[in-house]
Amino acid sequence: MPYCTKIFEFSAAHRIYNHNGKCRNLHGHQYKAEITFFSDKLNQMGMVIDFGDIKSKVGGWIMKNWDHNTILGINDYDLGKNISSITGQNIYYMSCPPTAEAMAYHMLHDIIPNLIIFEDFLCDNKELIYKKELPKTGNKIISENLERKVFCYKVKIYETSSSYAEAELIH
Ligand SMILES: [Zn+2]
Repeated sequence: MPYCTKIFEFSAAHRIYNHNGKCRNLHGHQYKAEITFFSDKLNQMGMVIDFGDIKSKVGGWIMKNWDHNTILGINDYDLGKNISSITGQNIYYMSCPPTAEAMAYHMLHDIIPNLIIFEDFLCDNKELIYKKELPKTGNKIISENLERKVFCYKVKIYETSSSYAEAELIH
């Protein structure tokens, strides 16, 4: 079964509130995100999904929300409020501590399934049915046997070159 992966790098600050070591301090990482898509069959161009689509949708989201930003847990709202009152930045809050594990899980389950609902995709309970290449019969898109499923299968977030966390769909 075919997979494809696109890699994004971004810089962000975070801290782990209540951590009893250095992670409690506000600090930054040069993150790397590996986003892996799966399809049960290739499209007519021989692709799982166009790398350009991943770049514009997923990369665009990362650049807008995470890159050169501060990622905090919502229980750290006071810190975020103080930072943004000085810098004006739009702090990214998560419902749990902003670890690489939480970021990978959040990206896989909350962000990407919603992002890929755009002109070429239908979303069916987090499985994306890609219809861009299907032939049209009259004004209906038909040929169920040509439909294929495309979905984000795995997200891997590197905090450093030797530390990463991943979230994967369990079938
Ligand atoms: Zn860190």
